[in-house]
Amino acid sequence: MGKIQLKQVTKKFGDVQVIPPLDLTIEDGEFAVFVGPSGCGKSTLLRMIAGLEDLTSGSIEIDDADATATPPAKRGLAMVFQSYALYPHMSVRKNIAFPLRMAKMDKAEQDRRITAAASALNLTDYLDRRPGQLSGGQRQRVAIGRAIVREPSAFLFDEPLSNLDAALRVGMRLEICEMHERLKTTMIYVTHDQVEAMTMADKIVVLQAGVIEQVGSPLELYHAPRNLFVAGFIGSPK
Ligand code: ADP
Ligand code: MG
Repeated sequence: MGKIQLKQVTKKFGDVQVIPPLDLTIEDGEFAVFVGPSGCGKSTLLRMIAGLEDLTSGSIEIDDADATATPPAKRGLAMVFQSYALYPHMSVRKNIAFPLRMAKMDKAEQDRRITAAASALNLTDYLDRRPGQLSGGQRQRVAIGRAIVREPSAFLFDEPLSNLDAALRVGMRLEICEMHERLKTTMIYVTHDQVEAMTMADKIVVLQAGVIEQVGSPLELYHAPRNLFVAGFIGSPK
């Protein structure tokens, strides 16, 4: 399960309201992309869903239960950070196992999950290496592996590919989409890249200055942008 609902969520930093009241539902299993220019509030929204940032007001429900005050580790969500968030002194295996060791999971179950994640991500031959001995794409896979082993009800990605070069980005996009096909787990993916949004999303959420300008499938946004901002941003002909 992985339905996520934001109800009248707002966020202020000091006196500055970066998110006015916002309602949004992400259905279980959906691949949702938050897209919008830098500074529009994408990361803030994602961090509030993850529980890493308090709401100023409003509520968040996960699978129809109020999770507004639930600590991040208890939300059943996994945030995927950029590859540089790996521990350089630990092997790939230990990096992937880290959240499981923290949770004091049974060793045999840890091994089962690590083997499955490594196999799904083509990392089986690299488990004993350190992050410094891997390519950028492999490091990004390790960061994803660390999220997969927790078997979360949703994955939250914040511009996970922005450190990679263009060719690698295209490959990783495909891998993340394949992972969604395989796992059928809810994914929320933040990017400022329109092409990424259009090629990956079931549902695109277009944001400007903390306001949702439009929510729809890539085709809906392309053929029926609600306003000039959406049209301009998505690159459709309106
Ligand atoms: P995005 O991820 O879309 O680039 P952010 O969510 O990071 O945007 O930021 C939205 C707005 O909130 C920006 O104006 C940013 O400067 C501001 N902001 C983000 N985090 C903080 C913070 N911790 N303190 C003050 N202002 C912040
Ligand atoms: Mg951001």
